Amino acid sequence: ACGAREGSSVGSQKDRVVTEEEWLQKWESGNIGFHKEQGHPLLQQYLDVLLNGRSGLRVFFPLCGKAVEMKWLADMGHSVVGVEVSEQALKEFFAEHSLPYCEEPVPEIPGAKKLQSISGNISLYCCSIYDLSSSIVGKFDGVWDRGALVAVNPRDRQRYVSLMITLMEKNSSYLLVTVSYDPNKHKGPPFYVPESEIKSLFGNHCEIKCLQKVDDFSDKHRKWGLDYFLEVLYILKFVA
Ligand code: SAH
Repeated sequence: ACGAREGSSVGSQKDRVVTEEEWLQKWESGNIGFHKEQGHPLLQQYLDVLLNGRSGLRVFFPLCGKAVEMKWLADMGHSVVGVEVSEQALKEFFAEHSLPYCEEPVPEIPGAKKLQSISGNISLYCCSIYDLSSSIVGKFDGVWDRGALVAVNPRDRQRYVSLMITLMEKNSSYLLVTVSYDPNKHKGPPFYVPESEIKSLFGNHCEIKCLQKVDDFSDKHRKWGLDYFLEVLYILKFVA
């Protein structure tokens, strides 16, 4: 069910750049069609694959926005770390879940802040992901990457993946959601990342398995000029 859709040109997107300023602007104007108020059904469905029988995990949410899945995992007893450039997004997250939090500077990163739930199990860094390293945030047992790799500018993909690999613990699992559509018809984000590229980006460091492809086509995608839109879920296993 998960054969690669080869032959699509991704060259049309490779030079596209969305600046941090543009992301902040999207949050300010409420242009956040990517946010899923009810959370993502694929995480619900494949949670067991991510957890793999383990409890009390450290789970990382790159480019987290105000993803409600962070609350789900914290409520299950895991410890959640996210990173997001928009402080507004992070404040909305805490407000919408009525979670009290405190703010502190991050000594290693000038200008960055850490917003942490008072209960202590959700720590959200307000800075660029490229400012993080394992010496600042530690390593993770699990990752939920949805709207993250696909939101990274194509020219920064290798850098993003190299960084993510340094944040993975031995025997960790990484759920990755990508999207598939005709990249000649929409400039992104989200950007189309073909399976062949997932393999070349991560392949040397982990086992990759495509778990599911789901039709996610909606009116929004029709307005973008598309005639199909799929979500593709992978599990990446960072074997010891
Ligand atoms: N993962 C979230 C948000 C997806 S949209 C979800 O599933 O809802 C991508 C998010 O990445 C935006 O909120 C944007 O502000 C943030 N972002 C973009 N570039 C970033 C960077 N370099 N570092 C951290 N966050 C970034």
